[in-house]
Amino acid sequence: MNRRTLFHGIFAGLAPAPLFADTKATLPLTEFEPKSMLHVQETQVERAKYPVIDFHTHISWGDNMAGKEAVRFPAPASELLAVMDRRNLRMLVDLTGGYGKGLEKTIATLQKPHPDRFIVFTEPWWSKAPEPGYPQFQADQIARAHQAGARGIKVLKTLGLYLRENVRSGKLIKIDDPRFDPMWEAAAAYKMPVAIHTSDPEAFFLPIDRFNERYEELNAHQDWSFHGKDFPSNRELQEARRRVMKRHARTQFVCLHVADSEDLAYTSELLDSLPNMSVEIGARIGELGRQPRTARKFFDKYQDRILFGTDAVPHGEEFPQQVFGDKLYQIYYRFLETEDEYFDYAPSRIPPQGRWRIYGLGLPDPILRKVYNANAARLLGLTLS
Ligand SMILES: [Zn+2]
Repeated sequence: MNRRTLFHGIFAGLAPAPLFADTKATLPLTEFEPKSMLHVQETQVERAKYPVIDFHTHISWGDNMAGKEAVRFPAPASELLAVMDRRNLRMLVDLTGGYGKGLEKTIATLQKPHPDRFIVFTEPWWSKAPEPGYPQFQADQIARAHQAGARGIKVLKTLGLYLRENVRSGKLIKIDDPRFDPMWEAAAAYKMPVAIHTSDPEAFFLPIDRFNERYEELNAHQDWSFHGKDFPSNRELQEARRRVMKRHARTQFVCLHVADSEDLAYTSELLDSLPNMSVEIGARIGELGRQPRTARKFFDKYQDRILFGTDAVPHGEEFPQQVFGDKLYQIYYRFLETEDEYFDYAPSRIPPQGRWRIYGLGLPDPILRKVYNANAARLLGLTLS
């Protein structure tokens, strides 16, 4: 097919058929919505094959840099429970449970009334990090959070990419800064796993230009770019986290978003050298599902250290790959359970993280059970009835 016939084919029906290549129609990328012509298997997975623990959700939220304890709840528990019951979701882990009085409120709202359905994690008081007594204060707060009922600690990418010596100004504080050592040790003492999000997709560290595979996403959210300025590279951030995990060998770390989902060889090397590390898959099936053969081997090899998670946010419509709801879970189940080919990784008209589609892994039952619940249950010290 020559160029002229190709363009003629694409734009038939949209504009008068161009007779010559130099009068060809143009179509903005944002309006391009190609429908796949493949006739392939489409499996509807209504319920997960085994009860699911979603280890990565945000069903409460506060401002983690402002030093305010207030938390808000984007949806009432009843709304969440209805979806959970339909989709065989046994438990949601609410990572952003807050701290201090906010944490107490989150626990009282979610975990106390529904102890078999919601688990709440606490977060560090980032705003106090510049203060002299912070290391001990933060360790004490972990004890207080544990006492209040928190089951783990969430560390957002705030550490490494936002938190600075004067909170919002000055030099970036490093992930392996020793002031956090007492906090990592307290996590071990109270058997609270640390769910840690470090760095971001590699493309977020590159210029937002026509070579960037996440151009549309970055163009829509320009503040997500960590290109230039004083930001460390993805690898520097990853290596700082590796030093933390190595230094605190008694602490269990769950690296969110598959640690580095674009470089499974690197992630495998981390897992091989750090027995206290696990990974979680939230918001990264778009990466795993476009390298299905590598991903399948990864799930085989690390089947005891991979946790199900989605990064779901109720009513988070701005980020379709994370909107809590029936559709999101059905996509995850389809990805893990079936060998379906070339399907959308997010409930969205246009693939929101990049214009590609994914392939199912078709995991065998013993691995599914571990990923869906057994690995998380072990780390959280739960027995599922
Ligand atoms: Zn998250």
